[in-house]
This record gives sequence, structure tokens and C-alpha cells, in this order.
Amino acid sequence: MEVLRRVFGYDTFRGEQQEIVEHVIAGGDALVLMPTGGGKSLCYQVPALVREGVGVVVSPLIALMQDQVDALRALGVRAGFLNSTQDPDERRMVEAEFLSGELDLLYLAPERLRSEATLRLLDRGTISLFAIDEAHCVAQWGHDFRPDYLALSTLGQRWPKVPRIALTATATEATRAEIVSRLGLADARSFVASFDRPNIQYRIVPKNDPRKQLLALLRAEHQGDSGIVYCLSRASVERTADFLVRSGIEALPYHAGLDPRTRAEHQSRFLREDGLVMVATIAFGMGIDKPDVRFVAHLDLPRSIEGYYQETGRAGRDGLPSTAWLTYGLQDVVQQRKLIDGSEGDDAHRRRLAAHLDAMLALCETARCRREHLLDYFGQSGSSCGNCDTCLSPPETWDGTVAAQKVMSTVVRLLRERRQKFGAGQVVDILLGRKTAKVIEHDHDTLSVFGIGTELREAEWRGVVRQLLAQQLLAVEGDYGTLVLTDASGEVLRGQRPVMLRREPEPAPRARATGAG
Ligand code: ADP
Repeated sequence: MEVLRRVFGYDTFRGEQQEIVEHVIAGGDALVLMPTGGGKSLCYQVPALVREGVGVVVSPLIALMQDQVDALRALGVRAGFLNSTQDPDERRMVEAEFLSGELDLLYLAPERLRSEATLRLLDRGTISLFAIDEAHCVAQWGHDFRPDYLALSTLGQRWPKVPRIALTATATEATRAEIVSRLGLADARSFVASFDRPNIQYRIVPKNDPRKQLLALLRAEHQGDSGIVYCLSRASVERTADFLVRSGIEALPYHAGLDPRTRAEHQSRFLREDGLVMVATIAFGMGIDKPDVRFVAHLDLPRSIEGYYQETGRAGRDGLPSTAWLTYGLQDVVQQRKLIDGSEGDDAHRRRLAAHLDAMLALCETARCRREHLLDYFGQSGSSCGNCDTCLSPPETWDGTVAAQKVMSTVVRLLRERRQKFGAGQVVDILLGRKTAKVIEHDHDTLSVFGIGTELREAEWRGVVRQLLAQQLLAVEGDYGTLVLTDASGEVLRGQRPVMLRREPEPAPRARATGAG
């Protein structure tokens, strides 16, 4: 308590911080799961100051180390770091400080621990504890595996008397189990905070014109608010920021392609000023601690629920009502599957990516409460929140078996009769009986399935295809995102398996109004 007050200037611990701090000070190992903003840092910083020796903090966030160390120094904590951005002189100076006990905290990039020289250095000093930040990076089945983290498995053997505290903001039960086994933390005490962020309203809407949909949201609900808009690509970050600025909204771009000075300037403006919208790739946000971010909007589908949860978690740290809004469509599924197919690494790695994407899609397509679904994913129970989009306007489901059969039959006919594969756009045009240039060119108006789907609108057909992809009743392949059947498609085609679908909402009138004006 004395350290908490004197050094950090806080009166009380939050949540389970005190128990964790006491446990680690007493020399116990700990696994801490706490959502972003929950206050994980104090859980190792306070014990490091109380126990004798230097607290060694392993963190993958090399870009943030300088900031973290500066912030600690401003509080009078003797902190330093070792990573690849330093020149040998700087490194030697920090090493000397470590050895002479002039440090309270030493931040280390994980790859440092693969070098015998670093291990020998650590042998020669006195270590008060090891803190393993972002511990989910050690889990191969996690969403953010980093091979360098595997080197951490030896810490317990090499320094059995030094307490270890592993911390993460995202871990499913499977990932948690893998952290425990890889880091040898079977005897560690687990501290699992609730992952619920009750003040965040989760909303996931079908994508038709994402920038206009976003603008409608900002104008209707977040005029003058600070917020973050995530896009997948740098180009789309630039386009979206431009669009917002032209629409009278103060917005700044942030991505790895900008020069470091511009990036730093945009980041500090976002932190300092009120009502700025940061349009960014996921490179933005790590370690950003701005309490009054009122909304986080995703214009593209995140790759995993873990990523989505971490990104949306940057909203509403002050506890006030905030919005997590995501728009996603058929093209997102096609694009993400394509990225996975083309990704480096072995089959197991691709399967892992696919499993994470499927979990994300299941969240998007769920008819359940979004919050309940999210908490369930992280192994926690909740009940319907009454505040997310599915609670506020429960989606209608409908028997989409016949519609699914029509889509699948079209894919089958193209393949069997024409030896062709096409993407969703052509399949939908065929179902709707549209004589487009591409339909005429390929003679697709003579297929028996031509025009058999006039009962649904185009957006509805795209919704059907998207949901079939999400349910893995259909798959995409190749650079052009052509549709193919899956092992499960046969059961649907033979009428052995019903397909329930969410009804596509009518396009929002608001989005249409701004579209026209
Ligand atoms: P995390 O690492 O879990 O995302 P941080 O450790 O960065 O969270 O803490 C988030 C914010 O909460 C920081 O601004 C921190 O200073 C503040 N904080 C943490 N613990 C306390 C506390 N006991 N009292 C007041 N503020 C706290």
C-alpha cells in the first residue's frame, strides 16, 4: 500500500490487484487474466519494487518499451530495457545498471532470452520476479503466437526460486491451458477477472456501403466524440480518413506506412485532443490508454475474436456508455479465406487461422446475445445483456434450406455442365436471372438454374452465401474467391440437413438517406 501510494499515487488497489500483489511478493507464481485496461501492470510493478532485486519484464511490444520506461522514470522508478533497437553502448549501460542493482525493472524483448549471453547476464544479477506480459503469445493455438516466446519455458527451471507472473488480456480456456503447460505454471495460482465490459454496446451489421454507414453512425450517435476506426489495409485507412474529413469529421490516418514522425504526431494529437477520430490499421492501439474513446468501429472483419475483443476493449475505459460497431459482408469472408490460403507457414498454422476466423464468423452470425457469446468464448458465463444489437432487436431466423440448395445447385451445375467455377457475384446474377454481359458471354442464361431465385433480393442472396460460408456449408478458393462445395454441402443438397439463416435486415433508412445526400 505504501508503494502504491508513494510511487503510483493511487489510494486503493483495484479488483484482484491486492491479492495478486501479495501472492507474488510472498514468492508465488501467478497467471493473471484481466481485460485490457484492467490494471495488469501494477500486479508486477508493485511486487518488483517491494521484493529485493530487479523485476524482469518480458514483453513483445518493443515499440512501447521506451514509452513504458519513460513513464516509470517519471514516477521515480528506476527502469530500463534491452531490445534490438538499441546500439551496443546503450545496451552495455543498461546491463551495468542491472548488475549493480541500480534498476527496479528491466524490460526485455523475448528474443533476448534465446541468447546465452543474456541468460548469463541474468545469472549474475539479482532477479526479484519474472513478469511475462502478453503471455498468450506462447500458445501455438492462440491468435498471436510468437516463436520467441517458447524460450520462456526454461525460466522456471533455470531460476526455480524466482516467482513468475504471466499476464494476458485474451485467452480462451484452451489457450490458458497451453500457457500453463508451456511456461510450467501448473502450480501457479490463477486470477481470472471478468471479461465483461458492461458499458460497451456490441453491434454487428451487414456491410453495404461501409463508409457511408460509418458516417451515419457518427452523425447519429457520436457527433464530436473520440473514436477509433479500424480498417484492414493502409489504402483503406487513407481513403476512409479522407472521406471523413471531407464529410466534416476531424479524422487522422495511422498505419505502418506513415513515417514515424507523422505517426507519433497523430497518436499524440489523438491522446491530447477531444473529438478526434483515428482511422487506423490494427498497428494502432497497443498500450494506448485514452479513457474517453466513445466508439471503436471496424470496417473490416477482424481475424479472430481475441483481436476483436482487444480492439473493441479500447472503447469506454472510463466506464461510460460506448459503442463497438462492426460492419461485415460476403467480401470479408472471401478476402480472409484468401489471406489464409496464401499465408506462410504449414498446414497446422493455416488450420489455426481458419479456426480463429470461423469463431469470429460465428460471433457475427449468432442469433444469441453478442456479450453472452463473447464471454462464453472466453470460458465465462453471462446472461443476455439487453444492450447489444441482438438483444435490442432479436434477429429473425428463417428456414434457408431451399435457398441454400439453390445456391449449391448453381455451383454444382457450373462445375458439372461447364467445368467452371465462379464467385458469388456471378452465382447470384444467375439465380436472379440477370442477363449481364458476363452471363451472356458465358452462356449462363441457358443453365436450368437461371432465374430460379427471384424470390430474394440481391442483398439477401449475398447474405445467404455469406452465411453458408460462415457455416462452412460452402467454401471459397483461389485468387478470385470462387465458390465450391464442402463435405457438408451434400447433406443439404440431399435434404438431410436443414439450414437456418438470419434474416438480412432491410438496408438502414439512415444509411440510404446520407447516401442520397
Ligand atoms: P492493462 O495492462 O491491464 O491494460 P494498465 O496496467 O495499463 O492496464 O492499467 C490501465 C489504467 O488503469 C492505467 O492508467 C493505470 O494507471 C490505471 N490503474 C491501474 N490500477 C489502478 C488503481 N489501483 N487505481 C487507479 N488507477 C489504476
